Amino acid sequence: MNLTVHGIGRLLTMSGAPLRAAAVVIRNGRVAWTGPESDLPRDAPPARLDVAGACVVPGFVDAHTHLLYAGVRREEFAARLAGRAYDGGGIATTVTATAAATDAELLDLASGRAALALSHGTTTMEVKSGYGLTVESELRLLRLADELRTRTPIGLEVTYLGAHVVPPGRDRGEYVDEVVATLPAAVVAGARWCDVFCDEGVFTVEEARRILTAAREAGLGLRLHAEEIAPTGAAGLAAELGCASADHLEHVSTEDARAMAAAGVVGVLLPTVTFSLRSGAWTHAGVLRAAGVELALATDCNPGTSWCESMPYAVQLACLAMGLSVDEAFRAATLGAAHSLRRADIGHLAVGARGDLAVLNAEHEADVVAHLGGAAVTSTVVGGEVRWMS
Ligand SMILES: [Zn+2]
Repeated sequence: MNLTVHGIGRLLTMSGAPLRAAAVVIRNGRVAWTGPESDLPRDAPPARLDVAGACVVPGFVDAHTHLLYAGVRREEFAARLAGRAYDGGGIATTVTATAAATDAELLDLASGRAALALSHGTTTMEVKSGYGLTVESELRLLRLADELRTRTPIGLEVTYLGAHVVPPGRDRGEYVDEVVATLPAAVVAGARWCDVFCDEGVFTVEEARRILTAAREAGLGLRLHAEEIAPTGAAGLAAELGCASADHLEHVSTEDARAMAAAGVVGVLLPTVTFSLRSGAWTHAGVLRAAGVELALATDCNPGTSWCESMPYAVQLACLAMGLSVDEAFRAATLGAAHSLRRADIGHLAVGARGDLAVLNAEHEADVVAHLGGAAVTSTVVGGEVRWMS
């Protein structure tokens, strides 16, 4: 809980200009001081982490994951590589595998993924339900997400995504009613957020409006899977409802992007999805940037469209494929993502913030972007404790 991190060659606090030859003092899990190491307070904690000239950044905040699932989607992936259409894959495959797994198996799988994310510098992660699609199984996933807190040092933000797809064979109106009716129980099970997959072939803007309006009344914060598959106006809905985030946004219009900016909706970019799907949708970041939307980055960790736990990898793709600058990408992966979760205490290293940081395997953050296939992080500190070290 008390730690002095020193020998920092370059320190990004996200609350001021980068510092050189710096140190960070963490007391009781919170940042108590940052500055040049030559000015290190005499009473700095004796527990020391010497990072030997490395670059240190705030711990990454992964603003969008589907961490709780079982099974792989190998056939679907092979079909994608071969350019073949594949019938029978998708979310339903993962729902079946997740239903067949025991609670202990799901927790083992999710905590393994969280451990990998921690080794890539993630210190806070959003985790959605959504592979249950019945009241009982969605609540089971929310309870497991809550229990996952005891299995990882990563801070978790839990989201109810009962409206992930319309379950095969169900009447959609009845299913929307059921999702709405489950909202109070989702709160009790530990959810802080509600999300809807609002897109072509999934839930309509009208259905999403109904679910999210009820979610707000139930006390949940609002997020939205928007405009991934086709232009639907979902981003405009996110602006209308004042959602904390709209995520994906490949088909966002300039007008809706402007509405998002005016309403303070953070745009969550998921470049690993574009890469994994081979969709070539790289241009929306520019539309959002031009409209003045605050950007966040996330992995969208899931078995179908983005099997990825690494935020540095998302940062690399955001820069090299999506066209963000290194500054923009690191800000989006830390401060922007924290804002998408309406958290003031993470994503930066100002005094009072949580003592969460990642020590990069580089003297400068740009080297982590340029170095393809390298290990990006050598240590991860959560709440002033070294929780991972290479
Ligand atoms: Zn997603």
